[in-house]
Amino acid sequence: MSGKTEASSGAAENKDYQRLVELLAEVTALRQSGGLLFWDQQTYMPKAGARARGNHLAVLSKVAHEKFTAPEIGRLLERLRDWEETLPYDSDEASTVRVARREYEKATRLPPDLVVRHSRARTRAHEAWIEARQKNDYKVFRPALGEMVDIMREVADALGYEDHPLDALLDQQEPGMKTADMEGLFGELRQGLVPLVKAIAEKADAVDDSFLHQPFDRETQMEVCREAAAAVGFDLETRGRIDLSVHPFTIGFSRNDVRFTVRIDEGFFNAGFFASLHEAGHGTYMQGLPERFEQSILHEGASSGLHESQSRLWENIVGRSRAFWQFYYPRLQKRFPEQLGKVSREDFYRAVNKVEPSFIRVEADEVTYNLHIMVRFELEKAVFDRELGLDDLPGAWNEKFRNYLGITPPDDLRGCIQDIHWTFGFGGGFAGYTIGNVASVQLYEKALEEHPGLEEEFAQGEFSNLLRWMNENVHAHGAKFGPQELLERVTGRPLDAGPYLAYIKRKFSDIYGL
Ligand code: ZN
Repeated sequence: MSGKTEASSGAAENKDYQRLVELLAEVTALRQSGGLLFWDQQTYMPKAGARARGNHLAVLSKVAHEKFTAPEIGRLLERLRDWEETLPYDSDEASTVRVARREYEKATRLPPDLVVRHSRARTRAHEAWIEARQKNDYKVFRPALGEMVDIMREVADALGYEDHPLDALLDQQEPGMKTADMEGLFGELRQGLVPLVKAIAEKADAVDDSFLHQPFDRETQMEVCREAAAAVGFDLETRGRIDLSVHPFTIGFSRNDVRFTVRIDEGFFNAGFFASLHEAGHGTYMQGLPERFEQSILHEGASSGLHESQSRLWENIVGRSRAFWQFYYPRLQKRFPEQLGKVSREDFYRAVNKVEPSFIRVEADEVTYNLHIMVRFELEKAVFDRELGLDDLPGAWNEKFRNYLGITPPDDLRGCIQDIHWTFGFGGGFAGYTIGNVASVQLYEKALEEHPGLEEEFAQGEFSNLLRWMNENVHAHGAKFGPQELLERVTGRPLDAGPYLAYIKRKFSDIYGL
């Protein structure tokens, strides 16, 4: 850490750096204020407030964008080049300048008229998507999607790339990650997962989860969600809160005010409980960011995928483990004696891990989930490569489902119009989910090397060693490093499907007796 102290003393003398930090703090404050308006929109805002709120959000984001792309920031970044090179790469100062420059270049490379056309295309795509869903007909969405694809090609060209246009789009979510990296990753996952899904499908009856589909009281579920989130280390006392919304999400306005939402399904236990552990995982990342980054451009996670690694860690690796339920099942049974009083802990553990090929991504289990993402990634790439025309998208989607999951979507609603993502853009928007699943195991195994007793600790309701390890190795860096950089620093390797596949095979061979 000595490099940091030296760099800090140099920073105090660098007026350009101080000015940059000051300007970035204003942008951060505007963005976080917009975040609060968004949170309120999704939770408590009266319905009729929607139009005005949309306007407030648009103005705030416009002002933040103008402030961030102001020529003064460009001049400061230019003048700081030589100074930056004298600093240690991982110092706060060099990282602030580096990340600000990367984001500034991305933001200023897009011509204003393209930004406006993209935003209009989003609005049209969203309207068309809603109508297509109502009519259960992809053809209604098709023209707006075509417009979106054309615009995303332009966006990719404007941002620039070396190998593949998708690289430019992927880089916006996962700095430094390449399309070729994703192809390699999916290649390994395809080989490992497709045969496993087939083998499990032949033993589909081995796991009964019917008792999870019965009435579970809403209030009690909410209490359980709060209890579990607090148990794994999400600070609900003074730095966080949980509310209800249609789509669960987590948002932070600073490390000391992090909020997430859940959706309770009164007829199905998993929906609320595992969403709570998932969002609590995102929440621990935000609460774990260093205090000194509070107004900084580094007050973010490394990428969407790395963020997802934290949510999947607590939702799946911890929350769907035998050890977790050793601790928590007796407590849960006390809350739901009628529903679970006669269900054994082992049967419960197996039920929450049931694998079943299904059409809807957000309901997919741990084994099939990445296949859903792979379908989307392959289709996006084929469209970008002009190997697949948009008229043939539903057919191609269904064929991939047959090949990978052994099932054929009966209609578009359970096929290619299920996700909202293609109304925002087209290309790279799903990769973070798979990166997160794979990275979660890679990080967990590293933590396990240093703390071999983690599972025994979980069984006692003790999660602080794992959380502290993530705090020190992942959260402490904020947005300093891209996902590959961070994984290499922490685990010694870039993203690697090996540990993930081994974990999935081990866990599900045991459950399904393969
Ligand atoms: Zn998530």
